[in-house]
Amino acid sequence: MPGIEDVNYCEMCGMRIAGRPYRAVVDGVEMVLCASCYMKLSRSGRAVLLRQTPRPQKKKTIPVRRAPKRIPLDQYDLVEDYYERIRRAREAKGWTTSALAQKLRISETMLRRIEAGKMKPSISLAKKMESILKIQLLEPTELAEEEDYRADPGTLTLGDVVIVRKDED
Ligand SMILES: [Zn+2]
Repeated sequence: MPGIEDVNYCEMCGMRIAGRPYRAVVDGVEMVLCASCYMKLSRSGRAVLLRQTPRPQKKKTIPVRRAPKRIPLDQYDLVEDYYERIRRAREAKGWTTSALAQKLRISETMLRRIEAGKMKPSISLAKKMESILKIQLLEPTELAEEEDYRADPGTLTLGDVVIVRKDED
């Protein structure tokens, strides 16, 4: 049993539409037309057939830019001369081992052992030292570099990039 929505009347001539109605835009107005009205209007160029009910245009999705690759903590290594870098940076700032130890929230004994090269700071402690002393203590491990630059062995290493970025003029 056909529902009421299956019965269409031409909005131009008012006739009941047998078969499929034509949905068209006539003079800028969307209308349901019978075949003969549609033919007449389309021939004179007044009716433009609508194939479907226009849908609201989907917004184009903007591709999410990948964040710059972060090297996980465990792919960092202490530089070999970490203890010298720490001591020199501390002395340049005129800090005692006790003063620096306090800033780092570690014991002075531990700092002395680190500065003597007898103990390696953890990666997180090294990061703290880097930011307090404004020095570099960590570098990506060789493994991490291999993964990043495997495709092009000629790619600059992190060390090269640092040098290149220094203004030479
Ligand atoms: Zn009609």
